[in-house]
Amino acid sequence: MKLNELKLDVDYFNFDEKLYQELNPQPLNNAHLISYSKSACDLIGLDYEECETKEFVEIVNGEKLLEGSLPYSMVYAGHQFGYFVPQLGDGRAINLGSVNKWHLQTKGSGLTRYSRQGDGRAVLRSSIREYIMSEAMHGLGIPTTRALGLIGSSHPVYRSYGEAETGAIVMRMSPSWIRIGTFEFFAKTKNSEKNLTQLADYVIKQSYPYLEEGTKTKEEKYEKMFFELVDNTAKLMAQWQAYGFMHGVMNTDNMSMAGLTIDYGPYAFMDTFDKHNICNHTDSQGRYSYNNQPHIAGWNLEVLANTLKDICDFEKLIKYLQTFIPQHIKEYLTIMNKRIGLDESLSGNANLDLIISLLSALENAKIDYNCFFYELSKLEDLEDISSITDICVFKEPIIQWIKEYKKVIISQGQDLKKMKELMKSTNPKFVIKNYMLQEAIDNANEGDFKLTNDLLNIAQNPFDEHKEFERYAKPTPNEHSNLRLSCSS
Ligand code: AMP
Ligand code: MG
Repeated sequence: MKLNELKLDVDYFNFDEKLYQELNPQPLNNAHLISYSKSACDLIGLDYEECETKEFVEIVNGEKLLEGSLPYSMVYAGHQFGYFVPQLGDGRAINLGSVNKWHLQTKGSGLTRYSRQGDGRAVLRSSIREYIMSEAMHGLGIPTTRALGLIGSSHPVYRSYGEAETGAIVMRMSPSWIRIGTFEFFAKTKNSEKNLTQLADYVIKQSYPYLEEGTKTKEEKYEKMFFELVDNTAKLMAQWQAYGFMHGVMNTDNMSMAGLTIDYGPYAFMDTFDKHNICNHTDSQGRYSYNNQPHIAGWNLEVLANTLKDICDFEKLIKYLQTFIPQHIKEYLTIMNKRIGLDESLSGNANLDLIISLLSALENAKIDYNCFFYELSKLEDLEDISSITDICVFKEPIIQWIKEYKKVIISQGQDLKKMKELMKSTNPKFVIKNYMLQEAIDNANEGDFKLTNDLLNIAQNPFDEHKEFERYAKPTPNEHSNLRLSCSS
């Protein structure tokens, strides 16, 4: 399809007009294309060549609108670091409408009613990070919002330190942009019951349409929406934990009602394994540390349960929420079994002890988390594990763990061939680390976008060989390991 054949639907204006702002994007100066995602184009049936036209840049930049597009920003609230903030919103994001159920949104398109002290802009470095990482998460099969394209500009943008940076815009796409924080705002409005009901119906239409059938009452339907989100979030957290992903800012306004990873800021994929790792520089208490993530997700879901009190049976929601951590652990163990190649069904307890002792061994060995799994999948046999011990600071914990692992393999009669296949399909060669993104950002700041595009390709195909990027399959260089990033990242 050509750009001029895309027809957008806008379905948000049925809400009370106090719940959104209709406005036009404010274009950046001298905008130019940096990258576009063919895989995202496929989702909306857009021809790839269309993204190489001037018109595409003009659309992402907000100089031109697609047919049917009526831009708007949404209001929401949220608990930031545990404290309620009554009004947040799309402070720098503008929704353009949806095509094929994908809601297009540009991030960094200027001031909105919800910008507060912000400037409505996004700098190039943070835009590259979001653009590549959302596609990387998808490449790993982790539910996420997507990104269609990225443009840069000569527009000066000032952050708290240093010289002027330049503004950029990511065209993001999601089946839903509704957050827990959206419910928190709607619950505090004058006609809260009406607004909440309308919002819940909207979320169900977008993300859980099958609930329209088989529920007897509206109350039951909304309760089931909550249960679905509990299940999806338990799975999402399992994927984050198993792949060492840290979001960094799990405020309720950054938690998707569809159970997707959303709003990429100071995130990181763990370098050296450390369960207390904190990737967000401003998170001095470690509220959003690696180990806390599932618990915070549960806390956020409890906030949601509170906002749904008027339209659901609160007791039922809280009772269901008690299944969240057990569900999460079950999902987590399933993925971890795959990562070490074990057929879970041959074990009585999903190899819980072995996985717990693996985590201690990884931590004590001081080893790059995802590289460990990749090297494990490549081993010919368990007699020579030097490719793993060579990348440990301390070898002994891994040597001891491999002994335990061998015993389990033998006692459970695990099939070595199947183990290898399972590991190969679960342990990617490449996981996008912050130091790689920084290299792409440094080049982009010099006007060279090749690495941004190469990283996109690696991110989308992390199991492929990418021979010329062998160095990225190696552990993160020590000096770049587990660094904390600022929120403006
Ligand atoms: P975050 O935690 O990064 O998702 O952002 C928290 C809130 O601050 C959201 O409502 C954002 O829209 C808003 N925000 C962040 N940066 C800016 C900015 N540069 N201009 C306006 N609003 C912003
Ligand atoms: Mg946000």
